[in-house]
Amino acid sequence: MEIFVNSMVLAGAGLLLMALFPVWHLFRDLSRGICRIAWFFLSGLIAFFFLGYIFYAYLFWGRAHHWSDAVVPFIFFFGAIFVFTVCSLSAVTADGVCRLERENVTDPLMGIYNRRYMERCLPLETANARSNGLQLSIMLIDIDHFKRVNDTHGHSVGDQVLRVLARQIKHCVRDFDLVFRYGGEEILILLPNTGGDEALIAAERLRGKVAERQLKITTEDGLLDVALTISLGVSCLAPEAEDWTQLVTRADAALYRAKKAGRNCTVFSTGPDKSAELRLVGAG
Ligand code: GH3
Ligand code: MG
Ligand code: MG
Repeated sequence: MEIFVNSMVLAGAGLLLMALFPVWHLFRDLSRGICRIAWFFLSGLIAFFFLGYIFYAYLFWGRAHHWSDAVVPFIFFFGAIFVFTVCSLSAVTADGVCRLERENVTDPLMGIYNRRYMERCLPLETANARSNGLQLSIMLIDIDHFKRVNDTHGHSVGDQVLRVLARQIKHCVRDFDLVFRYGGEEILILLPNTGGDEALIAAERLRGKVAERQLKITTEDGLLDVALTISLGVSCLAPEAEDWTQLVTRADAALYRAKKAGRNCTVFSTGPDKSAELRLVGAG
């Protein structure tokens, strides 16, 4: 009886200790806020109960002689199972929800945000820029002669090129810039808190980096070097009433002009009004 009672209390204490791991995982992944504080508080409670179990075991060590002495340890043990199960299930469920949310906003081929998420972010970011008087720019990127890559090396190499290029682009931008797959081989970059001049410099730096470095693609026949260039259209949110669709339309028009100008260049749309111009920058 005594061994049985002691084992239940100690096993319960062990389970409480183990319950702290999923709680710690949740705490680590949550952003600051009331929910994070609540989980922190809960971990404190679990630690408190753990000490309580140990104290109980110490006080009643060797005193269990009758079956009724096992009632409290029995409740302790199943209480600990309950705590451990709830904490573990919460962590697993939160993990699944996060993965679903990530998949929901990510393009599976390029590994950057998808167009659906872009259509959620752009209105929010433009509204935020407007209400806080901040600048906002976008870059629209299209790979030059990408059909040739597919035709020469095959569609699967083309897919890999898109994946590697997207990774390279993500490395070239700031942490708070958002990179979306806009369409086939077109990428849109949202540059919060960034004026036109700064966006142009960033666009030119990106264009230069892509042009100067060949992409290393792994194929069944070995490593393949693929040389690419990109064309870019850049636009900056105008002070006059302009919504995100107009901002994208201007970047698109600038990109079209960049293609017409010979590709591997950047064109900047200076504004939405009729007198606004498209300014060509870069190699061309
Ligand atoms: P341009 O310089 O005028 O942009 O020439 P381009 O050949 O790149 O022409 P365009 O941008 O119109 O063509 C895009 C091509 O990209 C068409 C399609 O074959 C290819 N493409 C689009 N999406 C994918 C994809 O997911 N995977 C692969 N491998 N190719 C794609
Ligand atoms: Mg193209
Ligand atoms: Mg295209």
